[in-house]
Amino acid sequence: MVGEKYFDTYISFSRLTGATALTSTRAFFDDGISVRDLTKAVFQKLNLKVENAVWPVQIHSGTVHFTQNPGPVADCDGVITDHDSLILLLQTADCVPVFMADTQGRFRGLIHAGWRGLRQHIVSHAAELMKDRGVPADELIIATGPSICRECYNVGDDVAKYFPDHIGLYSHRMTLDLQGIVRDQLLESGIPRKNILLTKRCTLCHTERYVSYRLNQTHNRLLSILRK
Ligand SMILES: [Zn+2]
Repeated sequence: MVGEKYFDTYISFSRLTGATALTSTRAFFDDGISVRDLTKAVFQKLNLKVENAVWPVQIHSGTVHFTQNPGPVADCDGVITDHDSLILLLQTADCVPVFMADTQGRFRGLIHAGWRGLRQHIVSHAAELMKDRGVPADELIIATGPSICRECYNVGDDVAKYFPDHIGLYSHRMTLDLQGIVRDQLLESGIPRKNILLTKRCTLCHTERYVSYRLNQTHNRLLSILRK
């Protein structure tokens, strides 16, 4: 079995949905590795086939697409599928990876939620797409992965102006609560609070385990995976 050195796991999410969600840690590399090589290493570690992977190309949009085919999905930041063999894949380094699955084991979704996507309500769009496909709100379970936390994420007025309800003040710094925005978009979409499993793991508080773009503009990434 895969040890916790290499991956964050999401036990409650998996128990409720039957789906397996993982986020890789920096145990896969020291100073750096290309995302392509990292993907190969992660899939090899999990004994999974890269040919079954599907991923959004990630353009900081508010768009989520439904797909039943492997490979890149253009012009979006989130992918939803009902195809059992597909492995959803996402890369992040401060933004929030958002895992979604229903309790009947039919649909899975993986969403890239940074401030630009959240400004365009990407999490609401994903929840709506699930509803359109017939998933009742109370059967949709959501888990978030490690992201920059509400005390670490310094923002200026150019970003803060879009999120008046999610700005904090820490040591005279203005900060943004990405995980709080994810939660509130889900609540506004009618998802019960008990179905939303937020993590407190921060990519900048814990650089020994994760990577943070805000810290040093790193090219390294964490890979999140969601599979049946
Ligand atoms: Zn932090």
